[in-house]
Amino acid sequence: MANKSNYEYLLSDLSNLKGVGAKTTNLLKKKKINNIFDLLWKLPKTYTDRSHSTKIKDLKIGENQTINITPIKYQFPRVRNLPNKVSCTDETGEIDCIFFNSYEGYVRKILPLGRNITISGKIGFFRNKYQLTNPKYLSEDSTLIKQKHNTYSLTQGISEKVYNKIINQIITNLPILNEWHSENILNKFENIKWNDAIIELHKPENIGKFRKNFYQRLAFDEIFSTFLANSEIRKKIKKIKKKRKVLNKTKQIEIIDKLEFTLTKDQKKTLQEINNDLSSSNKMFRLLQGDVGSGKTIVSLIAAYNTINSGFQAAVMAPTEILARQHYNFAKKLFPKQVNIELISGKSEYKTKKEVLKKLANNEIDIIFGTHAIFQKKVNFNNLGLIIIDEQHKFGVNQRKRLSDKGGNNCDVLLMTATPIPRTLTMTLYGDMDLSIIREKPKSRKPIKTYSKLESKIDDVVKFIKKEIKSGNQIFWVCPLIEESKKLDHSSAVKKFDYLNKLFPKQVSLLHGKTDLNDKEIILDNFLKNKFQILVSTTIIEVGIDFPNANVIIIENANKFGLSQLHQLRGRVGRGSKESTCILMFKSNLSENAKKRINILKDSNDGFYISEEDMKIRGFGDILGFKQSGIKNFKLADPVHNSDLFLLAEKEIRRIENQNEDISKFKPLIKLYDRADIINDIA
Ligand code: ADP
Ligand code: MG
Repeated sequence: MANKSNYEYLLSDLSNLKGVGAKTTNLLKKKKINNIFDLLWKLPKTYTDRSHSTKIKDLKIGENQTINITPIKYQFPRVRNLPNKVSCTDETGEIDCIFFNSYEGYVRKILPLGRNITISGKIGFFRNKYQLTNPKYLSEDSTLIKQKHNTYSLTQGISEKVYNKIINQIITNLPILNEWHSENILNKFENIKWNDAIIELHKPENIGKFRKNFYQRLAFDEIFSTFLANSEIRKKIKKIKKKRKVLNKTKQIEIIDKLEFTLTKDQKKTLQEINNDLSSSNKMFRLLQGDVGSGKTIVSLIAAYNTINSGFQAAVMAPTEILARQHYNFAKKLFPKQVNIELISGKSEYKTKKEVLKKLANNEIDIIFGTHAIFQKKVNFNNLGLIIIDEQHKFGVNQRKRLSDKGGNNCDVLLMTATPIPRTLTMTLYGDMDLSIIREKPKSRKPIKTYSKLESKIDDVVKFIKKEIKSGNQIFWVCPLIEESKKLDHSSAVKKFDYLNKLFPKQVSLLHGKTDLNDKEIILDNFLKNKFQILVSTTIIEVGIDFPNANVIIIENANKFGLSQLHQLRGRVGRGSKESTCILMFKSNLSENAKKRINILKDSNDGFYISEEDMKIRGFGDILGFKQSGIKNFKLADPVHNSDLFLLAEKEIRRIENQNEDISKFKPLIKLYDRADIINDIA
């Protein structure tokens, strides 16, 4: 039986529940309900009010009604398919209870003659008489029936009655946990306790009351536990002492002066934040967030330059070889000759690779560029002082932590992401890191003109790209994947390639998920060298690669993508100095709502703004595939509707950090909300 002050009961196996056998347990496990706590978040959808009884003479056919009756006569026909029947009365009339597929003994037991029974169900009418077929709600104890009965969206194979019983059992046995929140926080939720909030949450009359204190408190607990886990990781990493980097301001200025452009205000600000971290004695664990084309690379490379000038090595990791090479080439051009820069590539010959590894270990390389290959076991650094990770790695918290451990104590970590996401999401997903944001884009950048077009008008589009090719420009043509029976289908891209290849012979290439990785790099390289002009592809091309000569992107079936994703795709063009165009193609006329969405995209080129709007429309979770990135989905909290709670949680975490408050009181919270995999120390 439950220990009343212990949360362990909630984490115990479902088999600890009375009346729950292996069959029910397995059915629930299939729904990822593994322990008692998981069941708390399966909320009633609606309820049936059975609390008021009606006299038989006043019954309404077709409605759920509750009656107090007395069974007076049985009929057990010995003929197959004929139901058992029990005639019942109250002082105003008669009703038959009908049982199909039932045993006589069972019927006698639940409806004993002459007793007072409360019964509830949908009233039928047959041969001039009221009847109740296979009644489920009946008892001599009227209080059991005369209540509001919850309706859940049920797991197949579990009846509502059983389910209600399970939930009731849990609610009755809820442990009374010691409060973990501060008075100030509790006040915001009218001081409701965790277990009282759970009880309220399951009351039928509270269904959908999202703004009520019990709901808000429980949503806050979810958010807070996530933030607390993040905060613990951040604190832990920050506590790691490292050798300070001594920055050489003169050398930094020399590099900045060499640039063909001046740094934007945000680039300067973020560089300063990174520099402060480099020269501090605490390990850096920082995220540099900025829209596609906001100029993160140069900021990170200056940081790398500062690192090597302080006597350390730096490593830059990109998601693809092409991108690694682009960064490498940029660095080659940027840094003075005496800086030793190398690219480690999957394609390099064994001998070259071995040579690079040897040099790396001997401190003869200052900056190494590559894909994740640079973090393989056999790669040994002499004196690694900074890891820069660029783009697209949707690392989960645990992966990031591992990476940070890998470089050793003296190694600072800078992660870059080109995915602007709403603030509430950033706090949730990257709360373990310090954050630098580049919001402002380089002034020289021309906005990308965005149009929508019906697919039937494809001839106009073809005419347009003919003109563009004539002026020496290149075109991306993006086709969405068609998903059929879980198998990804590239047929739309293949078809489009065939179509365009006829119109533009020798000027088109095709790229999709099944293209061999090596071939992919070759195709992209050829596109970069302008060996062909139209690249038809699915969405597999990273947004980080600079194709300065490509200035048109066509996105087919654009309604398949969310706004943020469209914005990201659009970011593949507009990186050079030319005017660029994005054409969104649609199969049919846009609805008013779709028009509204597309207008957001046409009007704005600010990824942060677009992602906020996108989230308002589509909700969170789906945004840019973060569902797959290992983020635990909140059960109650919603980054759109509860943004106030996210801010409150952030403020409270800062307070706890600043006052160095003991967090052991949060242990039940962390344990229950399953963040213990992240912070195992307080466990
Ligand atoms: P991202 O943030 O997407 O990684 P990049 O660093 O690749 O963006 O920068 C995109 C392009 O903008 C590059 O060609 C880069 O040289 C250029 N760039 C960077 N900063 C500036 C600036 N302040 N003014 C003009 N161009 C810039
Ligand atoms: Mg980039």
